[in-house]
Amino acid sequence: MGQLNTFPLSYKVQGQRIVIVGGGEEALNKTRLVTKTTAQVVIISRHIEADFSGFAVEVLERPFTSSDLDNAALLFVAEEGEDAESAKVEARLRGVPLNVVDVPAECDFYTPSIVDRAPLTVAISTEGDAPVLARLVRAQIEAMLSPRLGRIASLAGGLRKAAENLIADGAARRRFYEALVTSPQVEAAEQRGEGQLAAEALLAAHAGAGAAGVVWLIGAGPGSEDLLTLRAQRLLQEADVIVHDQLVPSVVVDMGRRDAERISVGKAKGHHSFSQAQINTLIVRLASQGKRVARLKSGDPMVFGRAGEEVAALRKAGIAYSIVPGVSAALAAAADTATPVTLRKVSSGFIMATAHGADDSDLTHWAALAQSGLTLGLYMGKSNSAEVAARLIAHGGAPSLPVGIVVNAGRADKSTYSGTLAALASGQVAFSAGPAIIFVGEAVAAGDWADAVPLAGARFKVA
Ligand code: SAH
Repeated sequence: MGQLNTFPLSYKVQGQRIVIVGGGEEALNKTRLVTKTTAQVVIISRHIEADFSGFAVEVLERPFTSSDLDNAALLFVAEEGEDAESAKVEARLRGVPLNVVDVPAECDFYTPSIVDRAPLTVAISTEGDAPVLARLVRAQIEAMLSPRLGRIASLAGGLRKAAENLIADGAARRRFYEALVTSPQVEAAEQRGEGQLAAEALLAAHAGAGAAGVVWLIGAGPGSEDLLTLRAQRLLQEADVIVHDQLVPSVVVDMGRRDAERISVGKAKGHHSFSQAQINTLIVRLASQGKRVARLKSGDPMVFGRAGEEVAALRKAGIAYSIVPGVSAALAAAADTATPVTLRKVSSGFIMATAHGADDSDLTHWAALAQSGLTLGLYMGKSNSAEVAARLIAHGGAPSLPVGIVVNAGRADKSTYSGTLAALASGQVAFSAGPAIIFVGEAVAAGDWADAVPLAGARFKVA
């Protein structure tokens, strides 16, 4: 480890002034930073050029005078010239710490990148010239910490005495704090202004039983790690166990905490797979052991995700759960192909439906919906797509209805196909490997399907 030439610390500025000499963009950048504090911020320059009106600052359009540094905690110099020079001299005379923007040699201190979750702050500093690195790390930390973490940290502070009284065991107490700062329920309650109540309820629960387990049903999205929500990412970092489906690619499963146990309950052909009943039993058992379980499902957990059965089992067992939505495959497919699944005057609605196991009355219904202009997004229909298309036609769908298919939607290796219902029914296309979404409806023609492989040579007319 190299030794540090600077020492990171938190410096008290409350009740004092932070003076910025300069009136341009640089001064504005520093203003943005220091107005996070309760200090009185004063901007001084003969030339006020930037717009400081959005900030609670005093703007003085005049030369610098030495008394400007009375009661000053810090001085930033963000311009060059006569005022800048006299401000620097005055600061050194008075021992006021000085930062000269972009002149490290003249700085007494540097400002870190800040992740603000007051009362919690994370400051990222770099020595030397690595501001890009600091920004990158900051973005990662921003993503990791809930925007309401600060409020929840205050709640934790307020409950410290009570927690000490109610939970004697230190490790159990730590588990309570961990649960408090990661609980989506407390976060949601905090958003409604009921965080205090929720935090107290959580404390009561922890004081009663041992550590309470929880199951998070998390939508992993279509399979690219950057289509995961921030909440999903955060909970994956918290989970003790990750129980995931086969369809969730390893790049996403890898987003979880490194030492979390991983259990694949995938239904891949040729592998031992768990029945739904076994999955229900598994997640109930893990949570009953006090574990925090991330039940990771592809797309959105509530869309063809068997979430209904799992939630019912958790309810019955009295286990806490919450759901984290994800980008469902059809929406990823719509994005990939710029297909508006609803479109004014063309499609007033969007149906997510399963092609697998659909019976004739389902198909009659959908054919009518597609005929009336609604867009169908069919899941689980790739292997029998020709048959489904034929049946849709048999039940009243126009053979000329536009069809678009996306295999591996939301992923780098996606492939697309387009044509008509009649062309799909002819069954002549060999699809590439992977899960697929089949769109049917007039609105499909408004998407970008120019590069798509034509289904049986018959393309729909692009609008
Ligand atoms: N809960 C998931 C759906 C699971 S059912 C969601 O909301 O997306 C499995 C079906 O989803 C597959 O048969 C396929 O139709 C679709 N699917 C899942 N991932 C997909 C992807 N990346 N591209 C296209 N279709 C996908």
